[in-house]
Amino acid sequence: MNKITLPTSLMEAPNLIGGEWSNGQGEKIDVYSPYNGSVVGTTNSATANEVELAITKASSAQVAWGNTPVKERTKVMFRFREILLRDIDKIANVVSIENGKILGESKAGIMKGIEVLEYAISLQNLDAGSKMEVSRGVQCEYRREPLGVVASITPFNFPAMVPMWTIPIAITLGNSYVWKPSEKTPLTATLIGEALIEAGLPAGVLTILNGTSDCVNSIIDHQDVKAVGFVGSSKIAKLVYQRTTALGKRALCLGGAKNHIILLPDADVEMAGAGIADSFTGCAGQRCMAASVLLAVGDSEKQIEAIIERAKTASLGNNMGAIITKDQVDFLNSAIDKAEKAGAKILLDGRNPKAAEGYEGGYWLGPTILDNVDPESEASKVELFGPIISIIRCKNISKALEIENANEYGNAASVFTSNGSLAEMVASAASAGMVGINIGVPVPREPFSFGGINDSKFGYGDITGENSLNFWSHTKKVTTKWQMQNDHNWMS
Ligand code: NAD
Repeated sequence: MNKITLPTSLMEAPNLIGGEWSNGQGEKIDVYSPYNGSVVGTTNSATANEVELAITKASSAQVAWGNTPVKERTKVMFRFREILLRDIDKIANVVSIENGKILGESKAGIMKGIEVLEYAISLQNLDAGSKMEVSRGVQCEYRREPLGVVASITPFNFPAMVPMWTIPIAITLGNSYVWKPSEKTPLTATLIGEALIEAGLPAGVLTILNGTSDCVNSIIDHQDVKAVGFVGSSKIAKLVYQRTTALGKRALCLGGAKNHIILLPDADVEMAGAGIADSFTGCAGQRCMAASVLLAVGDSEKQIEAIIERAKTASLGNNMGAIITKDQVDFLNSAIDKAEKAGAKILLDGRNPKAAEGYEGGYWLGPTILDNVDPESEASKVELFGPIISIIRCKNISKALEIENANEYGNAASVFTSNGSLAEMVASAASAGMVGINIGVPVPREPFSFGGINDSKFGYGDITGENSLNFWSHTKKVTTKWQMQNDHNWMS
């Protein structure tokens, strides 16, 4: 049962600067609950002066933290994990309040963040570096070193999980971490900050700065910030990437998505029905891994019927969450109207939905399935970010792959089939960083890294797992000789 507890008084999301909580001196921003449309909290933007002060403190805190052995840094992360597990209900409730997810989804997001945390904890064993004798009496070794102060800008759709993709790894590697949460969902950040403080993270190693684009720009431009991780829409990802790299700094900016699922007629009906419906309705479609185009090859009516039946079981406010803002609900409704006018057949209509009792004032849209969608239309090409799936009928798998390959994004793609060689064909040919075979939300689990390609990612590497380590660190190469060698060569 999804029983969120709305706050009885306004919650606050202060900044965390040098280990002290304080309200920003800048513009006040209200935080709304998508469940009922009420203001549930406030935050204040950090001013440029506050950003300056915070990063100066982060920079001096980093010196001691960077010199702390990784085995000691991970002890803080072990305690952080225990605290998150102890407080998971409280944190999940706040995620749900400000984001609109159902409680189960909020908890699952925190658990996924904890998986990344567990990976970071294991760096003390996994990331021992290497050393070898490269010439007689000469040894080369790798030493991983922190960058200094790094920053992370996060989106609204996973207030706990997305920050937890980078907080554990970047901090365990010895960096100070400056976090700018989404202004739509800043409340969860306070709980994560409190948990890290309780875990014993030294003051200044985690900084939280609230605000919008001005705050982000001040963070990027600060001379002590060496790297910027970003997760959000492609438009802003590209802006942040360009601004950061123009300053000669490294940036890894994950953007939006338009994920395609190729449905073949031989797919298991039950698996396809559940996997595809859950992919586009889970988190009310506000996932960068959500399916949004279904490329139905040949006669896949049985599977499509199963998808419709599964999607119909969604009950808003009970087993399906809300949309982040009223504006976004309006945008989604108008996208459905436009698709309908352009000739799409509506197999399931989520407009004018009924929400659970008490949540009538919230931002809701039910699962919507559009059929016979024109591949050139908005519903096929634009990231809508809601519980809407557009079916495009394809006469064969080549046509389906052609459409998938032509889309500008490249986060996820999936295929549902019982034929191994066709599955392999899609896995090889899909133009996406993460591919699912009979999986609707193909999120890699640690230690496998998360990251897309094309316009879903600007920068090199991935945001989690092994492929993220080099982004948050330098690898120093040390070459050593202690004795003169008789048979010396160019190196000895
Ligand atoms: P958004 O791009 O609007 O905002 C993301 C962050 O950027 C926020 O912290 C926001 O304050 C900041 N921001 C907004 N405008 C800015 C500007 N002009 N300059 C600098 N910073 C700015 O994204 P959102 O609406 O919060 O999140 C939804 C988007 O995130 C979707 O497109 C979704 O696909 C994407 N997303 C991608 C991934 C991924 O892994 N690729 C994961 C989660 C979400």
